Amino acid sequence: MMIVAEEKKSTYRDYAAPQRANAVDTVREFYRLNHQNQTHDFVLNKKAEYLGFNRTTMTPWAALEFLNTLVDDSDPDIALPQIDHLIQTAEAMRANNEPDWMVLTGFIHDIGKVLCLFGEPQWAVVGDTFPTGCAYSSKNVYPEFFALNPDSLRTTLQTLLGVYCEKCGLENVHMSWGHDEYLYHMLKAYLPLPALYMIRFHSFYAWHRENEYQHLCNAQDDEMKPWVQRFNPYDLYSKNPNRPKLSDVKPYYEELLAKYLPTELKF
Ligand code: FE
Ligand code: FE
Repeated sequence: MMIVAEEKKSTYRDYAAPQRANAVDTVREFYRLNHQNQTHDFVLNKKAEYLGFNRTTMTPWAALEFLNTLVDDSDPDIALPQIDHLIQTAEAMRANNEPDWMVLTGFIHDIGKVLCLFGEPQWAVVGDTFPTGCAYSSKNVYPEFFALNPDSLRTTLQTLLGVYCEKCGLENVHMSWGHDEYLYHMLKAYLPLPALYMIRFHSFYAWHRENEYQHLCNAQDDEMKPWVQRFNPYDLYSKNPNRPKLSDVKPYYEELLAKYLPTELKF
């Protein structure tokens, strides 16, 4: 499993690439719904609804198997089952001798997408994330769709800081709701801080790629950002049509899961 060559990287996350017109229509419609509906109050309500983790318990494997049935509408680059994406991400890290907790993080980083199992629409599960409760950066993907969000008419939520204080830290910011935030809360007791940042902020491209929203960040965020950036190429560029065989790698990942996580996770 190889990370794709440097010169090919520009073709990923290219939402305007003509050869992917149909995929791009799906992605565009996805972000229209996402930006329209992810209000600050929506996020607060979803946190109240899900962060008690009282729905069910599942082994990490059971969650992974469910993900096999899901195709992510927000991703212009992949129509492979999610488990293949997770194995490809983790195997690319493993091949580069990244620390084992990071390989594990690569392997599980998207299992929060089980939110779809609980009936959540994709716009409330996947896609790039952004801070709610303050002004939107124009460097978020498809920023024109924020005009459809009712928060854009709430003037107190449209100042640079909005409901936050200067340098309050991303841990205090209510990001748009989805698999990142959900999984972070599920696993925060078990993994080292850089792993938790990778999980919680891997879809926050406006921050880790565009360096926006720095006025909300504290010293810990600045310290952890390089880890999120280190994670990103594995998430993006390990996507390829070669379908890895789960049976070949299963023993290794079973051991890794057992090293860091409890047998059953609360969802
Ligand atoms: Fe993800
Ligand atoms: Fe991913």
